[in-house]
Amino acid sequence: MSDLIIEPLTVPGVMDYHCHCDYSLDAVGTVEEYCHIALKRNLAEICFTTHFDSNPHSDGKDNFIRIKGEKVPTTVENIEPYVEDVQKVAEKYYLEGVSVKLGLEIGWYEGCEEIVEKVQERYNFDYLLCGIHEIDNICFCCRHSFEKYFSQNSAAQAVEKYYRQVNLAAKTKLFNTIAHFEYYLKYGSDFYGKEILTAHKPFLEETFQTLKETRTSLEINTSAQRHGLKHYYPRMEIINAAKKAGVIVNYLGSDAHRPEQVGYDFEVAVSLVPDTVHDTDG
Ligand SMILES: [Zn+2]
Ligand SMILES: [Zn+2]
Repeated sequence: MSDLIIEPLTVPGVMDYHCHCDYSLDAVGTVEEYCHIALKRNLAEICFTTHFDSNPHSDGKDNFIRIKGEKVPTTVENIEPYVEDVQKVAEKYYLEGVSVKLGLEIGWYEGCEEIVEKVQERYNFDYLLCGIHEIDNICFCCRHSFEKYFSQNSAAQAVEKYYRQVNLAAKTKLFNTIAHFEYYLKYGSDFYGKEILTAHKPFLEETFQTLKETRTSLEINTSAQRHGLKHYYPRMEIINAAKKAGVIVNYLGSDAHRPEQVGYDFEVAVSLVPDTVHDTDG
């Protein structure tokens, strides 16, 4: 456990619904270490959202998870130790004051519906996040591949394709929430410049209508700050437009990949979500 000083939030009842522990290849820290930090941070709830990437046509992305230190293929069966681990730790931490929820961040691709349904049939997940990381089977938010995707698309094309995937994902009604909406800004802001900031305009209304009708919510993801951006995912004007259009915006996610990132910047971000503790069944 790191000796880092973890400041507790002054606001009670705050939840972090986007955390990657070491079952994700790109994250460090055990489920228990994350819960320990959640407790120190005075969070009411923490939801684990391990990456579940299974696109068979993915261009260079690893469809693996880490189980007991070993890299194993992402399959419905192989995630069982993760599910059991979270459930076991949840028992312990509930009575210490932190509610621990079981989630997954499903790496979206057209055709993933079947495996997502199998995941839901076999386990009792509290929360499914839809992580749109790939378009045309290329990861646009990975350091090694974003240029490949962006160089094949104008800003307008890149954004249009992104919104198309958001619509398709929401229409499956398989997901509680679209993760880090506007994630193309992570590298797209530098790659395209100002042009990328307004390219969403033709697609916003239809997309918000889809999100509203399917009751697919948006999270406020604070990791944009760690990526050197001066906003969250999505930007403030998009958060407001979504709320105004009747889209549910009620989850905060740090997208922590290390325990000390749990609740990252939530002291500020908490003002943007409703102050009532909601139920994921609702
Ligand atoms: Zn993600
Ligand atoms: Zn994530």
